[in-house]
Amino acid sequence: MTDHPLRVLIVGAGIGGLALGQALVAAGGVDVRIAERNPDAAAWLDGYRLNINPDGSRALHRCLPTPLWEAFVATSPTPPGGISFRTEQLRELFTVTREDMIRGSTDPADGQYGVSRRVLRTLLLTGLEDRIRFAAEFERYTVAADGTVTAHFADGAAIAADVLVGADGANSRVRRQYLPHAERVPADAGGIGARLPLDDGTRAWLPRPLTEGMTLVMPPSGPASMFTSAFPGRDALTAAISDGVGLDGRGLDQDTLLDHSDDYVLWSVIADPRVLPDDAADGRALRDAALDLTRGWSPALRRLIADSDPASTGVMRFRHSTLVGPWTSTIVTLLGDAIHNMPPVGGLGANSALRDAAALADQLLAARDGAPLVPAIATYEAQMRDWGYAAVRRSLANSRRATSSSPVARRAGRAALRVRGALRRRPRQPRHATVRA
Ligand SMILES: Cc1cc2nc3c(=O)[nH]c(=O)nc-3n(C[C@H](O)[C@H](O)[C@H](O)COP(=O)(O)OP(=O)(O)OC[C@H]3O[C@@H](n4cnc5c(N)ncnc54)[C@H](O)[C@@H]3O)c2cc1C
Repeated sequence: MTDHPLRVLIVGAGIGGLALGQALVAAGGVDVRIAERNPDAAAWLDGYRLNINPDGSRALHRCLPTPLWEAFVATSPTPPGGISFRTEQLRELFTVTREDMIRGSTDPADGQYGVSRRVLRTLLLTGLEDRIRFAAEFERYTVAADGTVTAHFADGAAIAADVLVGADGANSRVRRQYLPHAERVPADAGGIGARLPLDDGTRAWLPRPLTEGMTLVMPPSGPASMFTSAFPGRDALTAAISDGVGLDGRGLDQDTLLDHSDDYVLWSVIADPRVLPDDAADGRALRDAALDLTRGWSPALRRLIADSDPASTGVMRFRHSTLVGPWTSTIVTLLGDAIHNMPPVGGLGANSALRDAAALADQLLAARDGAPLVPAIATYEAQMRDWGYAAVRRSLANSRRATSSSPVARRAGRAALRVRGALRRRPRQPRHATVRA
């Protein structure tokens, strides 16, 4: 027994690290500190929204205190569509509806949300202000003979703790020291992406599915595919924020929340990195390359690309974590992208990081209450590897399918989806009709 509460140092105030901080602070009895490299709360990755799926939503519900959870639900519109698989001419192959995704649940905790990164960040930071040290760039850690861990920072500062959590994202320095064999390697895919505003003008010509949910466009031959995601709901967000739902008295700045909340469709043409322009290409060159890769596709898809603002266009070569076998658990652990980074095809990264945060919070709170600490961390790590690695495999399979140059594999994939779609549309037979006399 020590004479102080369990000291948990989280490196990285990103989605996973902040969610863990929220859960531990709300439960109490844990000395939580968060060290973030960025100079302040404003310096954070903005620019696009995140799809939070029911797994991520349940985890967020577990981590956030009730008023912040209610503010999240009120300010995060639910896209009306699900995930639709379509041909390059936009003919439907198969659709996973929103109802499929939430499995008929009416509980907001099982919901599907499109959240602005800025809104999510603001909510996750609320109440943790005095726990976070900004401009704290983690460099390395040392473990002392008494079993405590000390994190060392670029400015010479050092913080001692009983548990060190590396929540420092895809290029995690904690991981590099702790599990140097767990590398991050290039994936066989990359993407050119941009945004098109969703307004009266663009809604007039955009086909409905592209304005409502996610679409995976699967042409019959390579080398590219396309992913689109609609983020509508500014009106609902504006109404919620001006009503102050769940925000009163929490010091949340409404102007900041409304910033970056315009409706838009995000698109990404996914292809073998060898056919993508280099990183120095400007927005127009990237847009032209995306148009080249989608020659002969539906005019609406090509107009979506052509009318997007070149300034919002970027190219990205995907990378992913290698999936290393179980390691011997200690008082140093990892969560989120730091251990299971994946290509952003399918929107699973932040959701997995949130699941990690909720599971690790449960185990650390068990340790606070007397359970042995390292076995508790081992329990968390087994769970985290289970879903985190499954998400990496799924994202890699999605990106492999998207870039396959084999027409046979592509046609087989489309045929399988068509069959699923046809089975879904077939009216269900009454049970007795299938029983043979
Ligand atoms: C284009 C794109 C779209 C995406 N869309 C989705 C989506 O729709 N749904 C979804 O689930 N996921 C999505 N993702 C993935 C998602 O963004 C990540 O998986 C998620 O942010 C990981 O959270 P994290 O907490 O592990 O890391 P991060 O959110 O990256 O946080 C890491 C934090 O650690 C800090 N840090 C790094 N190094 C140090 C250091 N040395 N010292 C101190 N601090 C440090 C960073 O500044 C950062 O604040 C998308 C990703 C991309 C690129």
